[in-house]
Formats: sequence, structure tokens, C-alpha cells
Amino acid sequence: MSELNPKTKFIFITGGVVSSLGKGLASASLASILQCRGFKVRLRKLDPYLNVDPGTMSPFQHGEVFVTDDGTEADLDLGHYERFSGVSAKRSDSTTTGKIYQKVIDKERHGDYLGSTIQVIPHVTNEIKNFIVSDLEDEDFVLCEIGGTVGDIEGQPYLEAIRQLAYDLGRERTMFLHLTLLPYIPTAGELKTKPTQHSVKKLQEYGIQPDMLLCRSQMPIPENERKKIALFCNIKESNVIQALDVSNIYQVPLAYSKEGMDKAVCDHFKLHCPDADLSRWEKIVETLKAPEGEVKIAVVGKYVKLLEAYKSLGEALTHGGIANKYKVRIKWIDAEDLERGEVDTILSDVSGILVPGGFGSRGTAGKIAAVKYAREHKIPFLGICFGMQMAVIETMRNVLGIQNANTTELDENCEAVVGLMTEWDKDGAKQIRHKDGDLGGTMRLGAYEAVLKSGSKVAEVYGCEHISERHRHRYEVNIKYKDQLEKGGMIISGTSPDGKLPEIVERPDHPWFIGVQFHPELKSKPFAPHPLFVEFIKASIKQSRLV
Ligand code: GLN
Repeated sequence: MSELNPKTKFIFITGGVVSSLGKGLASASLASILQCRGFKVRLRKLDPYLNVDPGTMSPFQHGEVFVTDDGTEADLDLGHYERFSGVSAKRSDSTTTGKIYQKVIDKERHGDYLGSTIQVIPHVTNEIKNFIVSDLEDEDFVLCEIGGTVGDIEGQPYLEAIRQLAYDLGRERTMFLHLTLLPYIPTAGELKTKPTQHSVKKLQEYGIQPDMLLCRSQMPIPENERKKIALFCNIKESNVIQALDVSNIYQVPLAYSKEGMDKAVCDHFKLHCPDADLSRWEKIVETLKAPEGEVKIAVVGKYVKLLEAYKSLGEALTHGGIANKYKVRIKWIDAEDLERGEVDTILSDVSGILVPGGFGSRGTAGKIAAVKYAREHKIPFLGICFGMQMAVIETMRNVLGIQNANTTELDENCEAVVGLMTEWDKDGAKQIRHKDGDLGGTMRLGAYEAVLKSGSKVAEVYGCEHISERHRHRYEVNIKYKDQLEKGGMIISGTSPDGKLPEIVERPDHPWFIGVQFHPELKSKPFAPHPLFVEFIKASIKQSRLV
């Protein structure tokens, strides 16, 4: 740990009582208010599951897979971290038990342990500690969120590792923050503190004394209950922070700061610094509270029953709304409903249509029907990744009459306008993939540059001709269809720098019709909305005024 900057402090965030309390948002919000006090922060997530990454997990189980610039497939909490802090997450900010064990086993095979018996303690815990302290610069704070809930068997090595780190680094450089729930029992008319007490007791069993409690609650915590929690959990009363429900996630940093969270952190570390300048968040919340109007956007996808699967997308649309001072109302549509129902009726009340990323055949006919409706009715359209591929297939089939045009992801024997990528260039090195290769971590992942066609709509949207965006896909539109697509009214307006991979398509005969092979939603922030979302929402607002 010698290379560690002596000023860097660590805040470990654990969760208790129940899952889904919003640890990710809490961590992201705390990081953001510490930034508002002038500190440099970094956020990290440690997930106790055995998958190496969430890349191969179903979005129905795990929600969105967030992708970093350096090509890591990570937990969606990294998206919260980036949106709230603006700090680009890296490969070294996300780990899982699968990754940790993979490292330990690789070392064992290599003979690095010199004959030792390999055990959870110390070998696995040491690897967890290495992860927490490695690849840091001169951050003031590193916030490490431990996934899961205290008491989970899978989480135990992580709790032991952070206990040891606090011992190694000293308590003056470490802080334990525990997020809990105070359930309201209507028959008693009271908020209950017992689950929180038990959760803290459980942490203490592992040798961890929390320094701060963040208590989720649907109503203000009465003074006497706060005192009780402080006394029984061995925590300063001012460090029992209430986290009341708020109507919008972007209110959370303001709410936490108002409750004294950043002050409590500064007091804990004995730091003297100016109060937080929260104007960035105040502006966003003001715009969200008093929009000039509302615009309805259809998102036609496969995973709409679990909106966590479209976390960044929903947020990016909101950001596009913030930039236009409009509220974006999303009409989530299951693509399969469009296959069964009346497309015209279902889409008649929306001013913009978005077909997001996806995998597999279910709902594809519905997605293609949505593209057709947008094209024919001149409704603003944004296709993302699979959505772009569907837009290309729609033009091939419905404009050019090539009925068997498809992607080889769905049909090996089709007219393969979209096909498996087996070779591409990454930073000057050739990437090679095979049809029957591993699925985990092998897509075209992370940031790639693209060159935009001058004079195109997309070049106007970005205001430049060279961009870098994040990717996560295995299939790609085949450039050999360029001329044919043009005859169908669709141009390729962005490609990889070598000109081989189509990155963007658009229809010049349409007011706003763009498909992108990458995921712009991953880079959008409330205070820096992505231009594609800003302009898509602007075009949709214009469309809403026509009807
Ligand atoms: N399934 C498609 C592919 O692999 C699209 C992926 C996506 O939408 N992220 O190319």
C-alpha cells in the first residue's frame, strides 16, 4: 500500500435490513456533495456474486449492463456514479467475487503463492483489499460500495477485507457508512428502529462499527427515535442521517446535504473546508420542478417490465428534457404488444419513438413495426444499437422490398444486412472473434471513435465530425449495403475511422431519423445532457406542437 497517496480517505458503504434501498444512489450522491465541497472523488463497486461480470446475465435479473470507456461491462450503479459525479468509471472501479477468484486461481496456477494453502482469508480478502487500493491517483475520497445486504454469506469476505483495511490504514482515514430502512408500521403509528439495530449488531459481529447511518424513511425521524438509534448503535446523533423519500433522484444530493451528511463526513475526518456549493443541483431540480411543457416519447423494447434494464436510457431522456426545459413522459411499450395490437393506435399519442438496444428475436417484429410507423408518419426516431439494426432491416424490407433482409443474430440464412463481426481494429490492434467463441466479455466493448459525414444531420447534432462513443455489440451493419440503402433513402452518416464499420445511419427525407450503433445514453449526465438526446427531444417537442 506504499504507493497510496497519504491524503486519500476511504468511505465504505454497506446496506442492511433489505435490498433495493438505493445504496448506489446514496454513494453517488455523497460523492457528488463532497465534490461540491471541492474534493476529488472516485467511486467503486464490489459485487459479491460469482459471475465475472454482469455481461452474461439477463437484463430481467440484473438490469442494465453499464459499459465504461475502457470496455468493462459493469453493474448499473456505475452509471449512477458517472451521472452524479461526472467522473468516468474505469475497469478498476468494478469487481465481483468471480473476478477476485479468477485472479486468485490464476496466481495459484502460476505458482505465486509458493506452496501455501489458498484460503478465503487471507488470499481472497487480500485480493479484495488490493482491488480497493489499486489504480488510484490523488483522490481525496474513494467511496467503495459493497453490493448485497449485510448478513449475506457471499458478502462476508468483503466485510472482513474492509475491516482489515480500516485496521491497516487507521480509522482516521476510513469511514463506515451503513444504509438501513426504518419501516413505518401503520397499526403502531411508528417508525421502527429494531431492524436497524439488528443490522448494526450484525456488522459489529464482523468487527465493523459504523460511523454513520443513513436511514431511509417515508417520514421524518422523531427526535427520540434518532437518539435511540444513536445510543443503541453506538453512533453520534449527528451521524444518524435521515434519508426521506424524494420525488426525483436528482433531489437526493440536496436532501442529503441539508441533513448534514457532507458536514458529518468532514467532521469525521477532521477536515476544514467551505460549505458545499450545490448550485449545479439546485438548477437541475428547479428545471425539473417547473417544466415549460411535457412531451411523450415511446420506448419500444423487450425488457420494459423491468425498467432497471433501461436505467441509463430513462435518465438520458430526462436529461434531454432538462436541456429543453421539458418534462419527458416515457411510454414504455413492450415490443410484443406491437406485434399483437394496433400499431397506429398504440403509437398515435407519442411525439418521438425510440427503439433501444437488445438481444434475440423476441419482439423484433414489433420493433420493426415501430420503425416503420416513425418513418412513414415522420415522427422523430432514435434507434440505439439493436434499434439501429432494426431500422436498417426495416428500410431493406419495407422500402427496398428485400423481405429476407435480417441479422444473422436471428437468421443464419437471411440476406445478411447485419452480420457477426469477426474482425475489427482496437487502438491499432486487430480483434478477432469466432462464431462459437465465449460469450462473456467478447463483444465490441467500450469507447471507439467514429467519423461523421460532413453536412449530415448527426454532424449538426454533435457540432463536430469526430466523436467517441461506447459500444456493446457483436453484430454490425454490413458496409457493402451502403449504396443499396441509399436507394432506400437511408445514408450511412458515420463510420469507424477506417470506414469499414457503419456507426450511424439517418434518413435525409425525414425531419429527424437517426440510428446509432453505440450507446449514447451511457455518457449523458444531468448537467451535461448528450446532444443526441437533447436534439431528439427538441425534434419531438416540435412534433408535439404539430398535432
Ligand atoms: N444484439 C445486437 C448485437 O449484438 C445489439 C446489441 C445491443 O443492442 N446492445 O449486435
